Amino acid sequence: MDTNGSLNEMLTQDWNDKVILVVEDIDTNKIFFDAALRKTKAKILWAIDGKEAIEMFSKNRIDLVLMDLQLPIMDGYTATREIKKINPDIPVIAQTAHVMSGEREKCMEVGCDDYLAKPIRLQILMDTLSRFLNK
Ligand SMILES: [Mg+2]
Repeated sequence: MDTNGSLNEMLTQDWNDKVILVVEDIDTNKIFFDAALRKTKAKILWAIDGKEAIEMFSKNRIDLVLMDLQLPIMDGYTATREIKKINPDIPVIAQTAHVMSGEREKCMEVGCDDYLAKPIRLQILMDTLSRFLNK
């Protein structure tokens, strides 16, 4: 297969049986995730803060969480820790604009499975999600 073929394949995953919880408080970032994920046919649930994320996670069958770390009311670190208490098997991918030293380690410490730095490139997002969803 040529490079373009595999890239296209990567960008058009079929996840119609998957539910992704996107935790994000900034509208422009929501628009990016919506545009990136729409084609995959995954069901997208949204939460705008850490507290809402925990509520959504408790009430729904979720396959993967995309967790912003800088959130109002309750930050993504605290929310991830709580989510992992509810179900440690569901992957939580942190996404953050603050790339500071030690942040990745802090993410892993609270139980995140991976870490994406904003601005997130579409191909990196799809590649990361594929690793967790295509099992
Ligand atoms: Mg934020």
